Amino acid sequence: MIISLRETADRLMAANSLILTAHVNPDGDAIGSCLGLKYILETLGKKVQVIIDDDLPKFLSIMPGIDQIQKPEADNYEADYLVILDACLDRVGTLPLKCKAPILNIDHHGTNDNLANYLYLDADSAATAEIIYRLAKAIGVKFDRDSATAVYIGLATDSGYFKYSNTTPQTMRAAAELLETGIKPETISEAIETKDYTVVKGMGTALQTLELFADGKIAGIFLDYELTSTLETTEGFIDLIRVIDGVDVSVVLKVVEPEVCRVSMRSKQTDVSKLALRLGGGGHKRAAGCTIKKPFAEAKQYLIDEIIKSLGV
Ligand code: AMP
Ligand code: MN
Ligand code: MN
Repeated sequence: MIISLRETADRLMAANSLILTAHVNPDGDAIGSCLGLKYILETLGKKVQVIIDDDLPKFLSIMPGIDQIQKPEADNYEADYLVILDACLDRVGTLPLKCKAPILNIDHHGTNDNLANYLYLDADSAATAEIIYRLAKAIGVKFDRDSATAVYIGLATDSGYFKYSNTTPQTMRAAAELLETGIKPETISEAIETKDYTVVKGMGTALQTLELFADGKIAGIFLDYELTSTLETTEGFIDLIRVIDGVDVSVVLKVVEPEVCRVSMRSKQTDVSKLALRLGGGGHKRAAGCTIKKPFAEAKQYLIDEIIKSLGV
Protein backbone atom coordinates (compact mmCIF):
# COMPACT_ATOMS: atom_id res chain seq x y z
CA MET A 1 0.00 0.00 0.00
CA ILE A 2 1.36 3.42 -0.99
CA ILE A 3 1.49 5.81 1.96
CA SER A 4 2.41 9.49 2.37
CA LEU A 5 5.49 10.88 4.10
CA ARG A 6 3.21 11.98 6.97
CA GLU A 7 1.81 8.47 7.41
CA THR A 8 5.35 7.07 7.25
CA ALA A 9 6.39 9.45 10.04
CA ASP A 10 3.27 8.57 12.09
CA ARG A 11 3.84 4.82 11.73
CA LEU A 12 7.49 5.15 12.76
CA MET A 13 6.55 7.29 15.75
CA ALA A 14 3.86 4.81 16.89
CA ALA A 15 6.29 1.85 16.83
CA ASN A 16 8.46 0.71 19.73
CA SER A 17 10.98 -1.58 18.11
CA LEU A 18 12.23 -1.49 14.53
CA ILE A 19 14.67 -3.38 12.37
CA LEU A 20 16.21 -1.35 9.56
CA THR A 21 17.75 -2.88 6.48
CA ALA A 22 18.86 -1.97 2.95
CA HIS A 23 19.97 -3.64 -0.27
CA VAL A 24 22.77 -6.17 -0.61
CA ASN A 25 25.95 -4.76 -2.12
CA PRO A 26 25.18 -1.72 0.05
CA ASP A 27 26.23 1.76 -1.07
CA GLY A 28 26.53 5.14 0.64
CA ASP A 29 22.81 5.82 0.34
CA ALA A 30 21.75 2.41 1.69
CA ILE A 31 24.00 2.65 4.76
CA GLY A 32 23.62 6.42 5.25
CA SER A 33 19.81 6.11 5.18
CA CYS A 34 19.86 3.26 7.74
CA LEU A 35 22.15 5.14 10.13
CA GLY A 36 20.28 8.44 9.67
CA LEU A 37 16.93 6.82 10.38
CA LYS A 38 18.43 4.88 13.31
CA TYR A 39 19.47 8.18 14.87
CA ILE A 40 16.00 9.73 14.39
CA LEU A 41 14.29 6.70 15.95
CA GLU A 42 16.73 6.38 18.85
CA THR A 43 16.25 10.09 19.60
CA LEU A 44 12.55 9.24 19.94
CA GLY A 45 13.43 6.44 22.40
CA LYS A 46 12.80 3.47 20.09
CA LYS A 47 14.66 0.16 20.08
CA VAL A 48 16.46 -0.02 16.74
CA GLN A 49 18.71 -2.56 15.04
CA VAL A 50 20.35 -2.16 11.62
CA ILE A 51 20.84 -5.50 9.89
CA ILE A 52 22.24 -5.83 6.35
CA ASP A 53 22.71 -9.18 4.65
CA ASP A 54 26.09 -8.47 3.05
CA ASP A 55 29.63 -7.27 3.69
CA LEU A 56 29.98 -3.51 4.07
CA PRO A 57 32.32 -1.74 1.64
CA LYS A 58 35.65 -0.54 2.98
CA PHE A 59 35.31 2.87 1.29
CA LEU A 60 32.44 3.69 3.66
CA SER A 61 34.37 3.02 6.88
CA ILE A 62 34.28 6.79 7.60
CA MET A 63 30.52 6.45 8.15
CA PRO A 64 29.95 7.02 11.90
CA GLY A 65 28.25 4.02 13.51
CA ILE A 66 28.86 1.63 10.59
CA ASP A 67 30.42 -0.83 13.09
CA GLN A 68 27.01 -1.23 14.77
CA ILE A 69 25.49 -2.76 11.63
CA GLN A 70 24.95 -6.51 12.01
CA LYS A 71 24.41 -9.42 9.64
CA PRO A 72 21.23 -11.52 9.97
CA GLU A 73 22.75 -14.30 12.07
CA ALA A 74 19.69 -15.24 14.18
CA ASP A 75 16.82 -17.37 12.79
CA ASN A 76 14.03 -15.18 14.07
CA TYR A 77 13.81 -11.42 14.58
CA GLU A 78 10.90 -9.68 16.30
CA ALA A 79 9.98 -6.03 15.73
CA ASP A 80 6.98 -3.78 15.10
CA TYR A 81 8.28 -3.06 11.59
CA LEU A 82 10.95 -4.28 9.25
CA VAL A 83 11.95 -1.04 7.51
CA ILE A 84 13.50 -1.58 4.07
CA LEU A 85 15.49 1.39 2.79
CA ASP A 86 16.79 2.21 -0.71
CA ALA A 87 15.48 -1.02 -2.29
CA CYS A 88 12.44 -3.22 -2.56
CA LEU A 89 11.94 -6.67 -1.03
CA ASP A 90 13.75 -8.72 -3.63
CA ARG A 91 17.11 -7.06 -3.02
CA VAL A 92 17.59 -7.33 0.73
CA GLY A 93 18.72 -10.94 1.02
CA THR A 94 17.45 -13.35 3.69
CA LEU A 95 16.18 -10.93 6.36
CA PRO A 96 12.49 -10.89 5.28
CA LEU A 97 12.49 -14.70 5.78
CA LYS A 98 13.72 -14.28 9.35
CA CYS A 99 11.64 -11.27 10.36
CA LYS A 100 7.91 -11.55 9.84
CA ALA A 101 7.09 -7.99 11.02
CA PRO A 102 5.04 -5.79 8.66
CA ILE A 103 7.29 -4.24 6.03
CA LEU A 104 7.58 -0.48 5.81
CA ASN A 105 9.51 0.41 2.65
CA ILE A 106 11.08 3.82 2.02
CA ASP A 107 12.66 4.14 -1.42
CA HIS A 108 13.49 6.38 -4.39
CA HIS A 109 13.74 3.73 -7.14
CA GLY A 110 10.98 4.18 -9.73
CA THR A 111 11.28 0.44 -10.40
CA ASN A 112 10.12 -0.50 -6.85
CA ASP A 113 7.78 -3.54 -7.04
CA ASN A 114 5.29 -2.17 -4.43
CA LEU A 115 5.13 -5.51 -2.59
CA ALA A 116 5.70 -4.07 0.90
CA ASN A 117 2.82 -3.70 3.36
CA TYR A 118 3.49 0.05 3.37
CA LEU A 119 5.52 1.92 0.76
CA TYR A 120 6.66 5.52 0.69
CA LEU A 121 8.23 6.03 -2.74
CA ASP A 122 9.60 9.29 -4.08
CA ALA A 123 11.40 8.73 -7.37
CA ASP A 124 12.15 12.49 -7.54
CA SER A 125 14.43 12.31 -4.51
CA ALA A 126 18.11 12.10 -5.43
CA ALA A 127 18.66 9.59 -2.63
CA THR A 128 16.72 7.69 0.01
CA ALA A 129 18.81 9.81 2.40
CA GLU A 130 16.96 12.88 1.04
CA ILE A 131 13.70 11.26 2.17
CA ILE A 132 15.28 10.51 5.59
CA TYR A 133 16.18 14.20 5.83
CA ARG A 134 12.54 15.17 5.12
CA LEU A 135 11.32 12.58 7.65
CA ALA A 136 13.52 14.14 10.33
CA LYS A 137 11.90 17.51 9.52
CA ALA A 138 8.40 16.02 9.62
CA ILE A 139 9.12 14.38 12.98
CA GLY A 140 10.99 17.38 14.40
CA VAL A 141 14.37 15.72 15.08
CA LYS A 142 17.58 17.67 14.42
CA PHE A 143 20.64 15.73 13.22
CA ASP A 144 23.88 15.79 15.21
CA ARG A 145 27.24 15.73 13.41
CA ASP A 146 27.49 11.94 13.15
CA SER A 147 23.99 11.39 11.80
CA ALA A 148 24.37 14.44 9.51
CA THR A 149 27.53 12.81 8.12
CA ALA A 150 25.65 9.58 7.38
CA VAL A 151 22.76 11.35 5.63
CA TYR A 152 25.12 13.69 3.75
CA ILE A 153 27.11 10.68 2.46
CA GLY A 154 23.86 9.20 1.15
CA LEU A 155 23.01 12.40 -0.69
CA ALA A 156 26.52 12.98 -2.00
CA THR A 157 27.22 9.45 -3.25
CA ASP A 158 23.88 8.95 -5.04
CA SER A 159 24.07 12.38 -6.72
CA GLY A 160 27.75 12.10 -7.73
CA TYR A 161 28.56 14.91 -5.31
CA PHE A 162 25.61 16.97 -6.53
CA LYS A 163 26.31 16.79 -10.24
CA TYR A 164 23.96 14.12 -11.67
CA SER A 165 20.54 14.93 -13.13
CA ASN A 166 18.81 13.75 -9.93
CA THR A 167 20.27 16.74 -8.05
CA THR A 168 17.52 19.30 -7.31
CA PRO A 169 17.29 22.51 -5.28
CA GLN A 170 15.82 20.30 -2.49
CA THR A 171 18.91 18.06 -2.57
CA MET A 172 21.18 21.09 -2.30
CA ARG A 173 19.07 22.61 0.52
CA ALA A 174 19.18 19.36 2.47
CA ALA A 175 22.97 19.16 2.00
CA ALA A 176 23.39 22.82 3.00
CA GLU A 177 21.45 22.29 6.19
CA LEU A 178 23.44 19.16 7.05
CA LEU A 179 26.67 21.14 6.56
CA GLU A 180 25.37 23.66 9.14
CA THR A 181 26.15 20.99 11.78
CA GLY A 182 29.84 21.66 11.06
CA ILE A 183 30.64 18.56 8.99
CA LYS A 184 33.23 19.12 6.27
CA PRO A 185 32.47 18.06 2.67
CA GLU A 186 36.15 17.78 1.76
CA THR A 187 36.92 15.51 4.73
CA ILE A 188 34.03 13.26 3.76
CA SER A 189 34.78 13.15 0.02
CA GLU A 190 38.49 12.59 0.59
CA ALA A 191 37.83 9.69 2.94
CA ILE A 192 35.36 8.10 0.54
CA GLU A 193 37.41 8.63 -2.61
CA THR A 194 40.79 7.59 -1.23
CA LYS A 195 41.86 4.34 -2.86
CA ASP A 196 44.64 1.85 -2.23
CA TYR A 197 47.42 1.77 -4.81
CA THR A 198 46.31 -1.74 -5.81
CA VAL A 199 42.76 -0.51 -6.50
CA VAL A 200 44.04 2.19 -8.87
CA LYS A 201 46.31 -0.38 -10.57
CA GLY A 202 43.23 -2.63 -10.83
CA MET A 203 41.41 0.16 -12.67
CA GLY A 204 44.18 0.07 -15.27
CA THR A 205 43.81 -3.69 -15.68
CA ALA A 206 40.02 -3.39 -15.97
CA LEU A 207 40.36 -0.61 -18.55
CA GLN A 208 42.30 -3.00 -20.79
CA THR A 209 38.95 -4.69 -21.46
CA LEU A 210 37.25 -1.44 -22.58
CA GLU A 211 35.25 -1.81 -25.79
CA LEU A 212 32.90 0.42 -27.78
CA PHE A 213 29.76 -0.77 -29.60
CA ALA A 214 26.98 0.75 -31.73
CA ASP A 215 29.17 3.42 -33.36
CA GLY A 216 30.57 4.46 -30.01
CA LYS A 217 27.23 4.94 -28.26
CA ILE A 218 27.92 2.06 -25.86
CA ALA A 219 31.08 1.67 -23.77
CA GLY A 220 31.76 -1.38 -21.63
CA ILE A 221 34.28 -2.91 -19.25
CA PHE A 222 33.92 -6.70 -19.07
CA LEU A 223 35.55 -8.55 -16.20
CA ASP A 224 35.59 -12.34 -16.34
CA TYR A 225 35.68 -14.42 -13.16
CA GLU A 226 39.46 -14.64 -13.10
CA LEU A 227 39.94 -10.89 -13.48
CA THR A 228 37.13 -10.04 -11.04
CA SER A 229 38.77 -12.30 -8.44
CA THR A 230 41.97 -10.24 -8.61
CA LEU A 231 40.13 -6.96 -7.92
CA GLU A 232 39.40 -5.74 -4.41
CA THR A 233 36.55 -3.54 -5.67
CA THR A 234 35.04 -2.19 -8.90
CA GLU A 235 33.57 0.86 -7.17
CA GLY A 236 33.96 3.93 -9.39
CA PHE A 237 35.10 1.97 -12.47
CA ILE A 238 32.02 2.98 -14.44
CA ASP A 239 32.84 6.65 -13.88
CA LEU A 240 36.07 6.14 -15.85
CA ILE A 241 34.15 5.30 -19.03
CA ARG A 242 30.86 7.22 -18.81
CA VAL A 243 32.82 10.37 -19.74
CA ILE A 244 33.90 9.08 -23.19
CA ASP A 245 32.79 11.51 -25.89
CA GLY A 246 29.74 10.24 -27.79
CA VAL A 247 28.89 7.47 -25.29
CA ASP A 248 25.25 7.24 -24.21
CA VAL A 249 25.16 3.94 -22.27
CA SER A 250 28.14 2.71 -20.25
CA VAL A 251 28.33 -0.65 -18.53
CA VAL A 252 30.53 -2.63 -16.20
CA LEU A 253 29.87 -6.36 -16.28
CA LYS A 254 31.68 -8.53 -13.73
CA VAL A 255 31.42 -12.23 -13.00
CA VAL A 256 30.84 -12.51 -9.23
CA GLU A 257 30.28 -16.29 -9.23
CA PRO A 258 30.59 -18.67 -12.18
CA GLU A 259 27.52 -17.94 -14.37
CA VAL A 260 26.45 -14.96 -12.22
CA CYS A 261 27.26 -11.58 -13.78
CA ARG A 262 26.56 -8.31 -12.01
CA VAL A 263 25.92 -5.35 -14.29
CA SER A 264 26.10 -1.60 -13.58
CA MET A 265 24.75 0.84 -16.16
CA ARG A 266 24.85 4.62 -16.60
CA SER A 267 23.35 6.71 -19.40
CA LYS A 268 23.02 10.14 -20.88
CA GLN A 269 19.81 9.59 -22.93
CA THR A 270 18.53 6.02 -22.83
CA ASP A 271 16.30 5.08 -19.87
CA VAL A 272 18.45 2.29 -18.42
CA SER A 273 15.97 1.61 -15.58
CA LYS A 274 13.52 0.17 -18.15
CA LEU A 275 16.26 -1.98 -19.64
CA ALA A 276 17.45 -3.13 -16.19
CA LEU A 277 13.87 -3.97 -15.19
CA ARG A 278 13.51 -6.10 -18.32
CA LEU A 279 16.68 -7.96 -17.32
CA GLY A 280 15.35 -8.59 -13.80
CA GLY A 281 17.01 -5.63 -12.04
CA GLY A 282 16.05 -2.00 -11.58
CA GLY A 283 17.27 1.47 -10.73
CA HIS A 284 16.89 4.95 -12.16
CA LYS A 285 16.78 6.44 -15.69
CA ARG A 286 20.45 7.39 -15.61
CA ALA A 287 21.83 4.68 -13.26
CA ALA A 288 20.60 1.13 -13.01
CA GLY A 289 21.76 -2.43 -12.50
CA CYS A 290 20.88 -6.08 -12.82
CA THR A 291 22.26 -9.58 -12.46
CA ILE A 292 22.49 -11.87 -15.48
CA LYS A 293 22.71 -15.58 -14.75
CA LYS A 294 24.64 -16.76 -17.78
CA PRO A 295 28.29 -17.63 -18.51
CA PHE A 296 30.52 -14.60 -19.14
CA ALA A 297 30.67 -14.52 -22.96
CA GLU A 298 26.96 -15.26 -23.31
CA ALA A 299 26.01 -12.63 -20.71
CA LYS A 300 28.17 -10.04 -22.44
CA GLN A 301 26.62 -10.65 -25.87
CA TYR A 302 23.09 -10.73 -24.41
CA LEU A 303 23.69 -7.44 -22.57
CA ILE A 304 25.07 -5.66 -25.64
CA ASP A 305 22.16 -6.91 -27.79
CA GLU A 306 19.64 -5.72 -25.20
CA ILE A 307 21.27 -2.30 -24.89
CA ILE A 308 21.34 -1.87 -28.68
CA LYS A 309 17.59 -2.66 -28.76
CA SER A 310 16.84 0.02 -26.18
CA LEU A 311 19.21 2.77 -27.37
CA GLY A 312 17.46 6.13 -27.41
CA VAL A 313 14.33 4.76 -25.69
P1 AMP B 1 25.16 0.61 -9.15
O1 AMP B 1 25.56 0.48 -10.56
O2 AMP B 1 25.35 -0.64 -8.35
O3 AMP B 1 25.74 1.85 -8.51
O4 AMP B 1 23.58 0.84 -9.18
C1 AMP B 1 22.99 1.89 -9.87
C2 AMP B 1 21.55 2.06 -9.43
O5 AMP B 1 20.79 0.92 -9.83
C3 AMP B 1 21.39 2.18 -7.91
O6 AMP B 1 20.31 3.05 -7.64
C4 AMP B 1 21.05 0.78 -7.52
O7 AMP B 1 20.31 0.76 -6.32
C5 AMP B 1 20.26 0.26 -8.70
N1 AMP B 1 20.45 -1.18 -8.89
C6 AMP B 1 21.61 -1.81 -9.10
N2 AMP B 1 21.43 -3.15 -9.25
C7 AMP B 1 20.11 -3.36 -9.10
C8 AMP B 1 19.28 -4.53 -9.11
N3 AMP B 1 19.76 -5.76 -9.32
N4 AMP B 1 17.94 -4.36 -8.89
C9 AMP B 1 17.44 -3.13 -8.67
N5 AMP B 1 18.16 -1.99 -8.67
C10 AMP B 1 19.47 -2.10 -8.87
MN1 MN C 1 21.58 2.26 -3.17
MN1 MN D 1 19.75 5.33 -3.46
